[in-house]
Amino acid sequence: MYWYDKRFHSLNYFLKETFGEKIIKIPLDGGFTCPNRDGTLSNRGCIFCSSRGSGDFAGNRLLPINEQFEEIRNSMKKKWPKAKYIPYFQAYTNTYAPVEVLKDKFYEALSLPDVVGISIATRPDCLSNDILSLLKDISKKTFLFVELGLQTTKESSIKLINRCYENNVFSKAVKDLKSINANVVCHCILGLPYETKDDMLNTVKFACQNNVNGIKLQLLHILKNTELNTLYKKEKFKVLTFEEYIDIVVSCLSIIPEDIVIHRLTAEGPRKDLVAPEFSIEKFKILNTIDNTLKSLDIYQGKNANTKVVNL
Ligand code: SF4
Repeated sequence: MYWYDKRFHSLNYFLKETFGEKIIKIPLDGGFTCPNRDGTLSNRGCIFCSSRGSGDFAGNRLLPINEQFEEIRNSMKKKWPKAKYIPYFQAYTNTYAPVEVLKDKFYEALSLPDVVGISIATRPDCLSNDILSLLKDISKKTFLFVELGLQTTKESSIKLINRCYENNVFSKAVKDLKSINANVVCHCILGLPYETKDDMLNTVKFACQNNVNGIKLQLLHILKNTELNTLYKKEKFKVLTFEEYIDIVVSCLSIIPEDIVIHRLTAEGPRKDLVAPEFSIEKFKILNTIDNTLKSLDIYQGKNANTKVVNL
């Protein structure tokens, strides 16, 4: 099974088939915060979260949305002069503000040149009825991705990373978002401290069973100035090796049904802040090795999609 030249249902394939042209996501910082950081749920944040609210490559928080967009769009235009764009509200929790504020920011982004949709990253516990109603209006007008940070389903890991919501909150959010025709993308972290390969596969299987439309598989990377780094220095927990990561990603792809779009196969942080694993900055080597391994083992996405969930 192939999606163009890939053995998995890539985002590139999905966007080209959906829009018929090159689409680029532009990561923005909408100036929001997060209930897991401002004391509402906790003031620690998720322990892996960077000082930029996991939006390290998003636009400059100090600039208005249109200027952030233009700055990144101008750099993209050199390579893809005819591309269209999806503004991506990436940093912090992008539905954590009064609905009027959200409405202004989202519609401003939608009014920018060559925009064909919008992507909004948030927590599943930040989707009140008012916000769902706003998102419903948006989804009637344009293409809407909503990205939810699940990260893991293992109870001990949920506590360890200080996620501060239960798995059933995620399930309800996916159902609510799908009922308003949002395209739901789930973020999963591979390599959390003390997790086994089965734990990671269970998280991915849980996302699939909740009928998400897309999945981001993200390699855990430890950044300076995070609680995760403090824990790493103290407990010296094991981080994944390159070979282990490739093996886990390939196994994940084999159990993800063919219709679910793969938005990412790795993750990286700013080089200057990276503590471990060092290979996380070798994005192209990781992606090429995943492609080559899928080919050499004759694995494609969904090949083992009926595998049972372990211990859930
Ligand atoms: S919910 Fe997102 S922004 Fe908030 S602390 Fe966790 S990773 Fe960071």
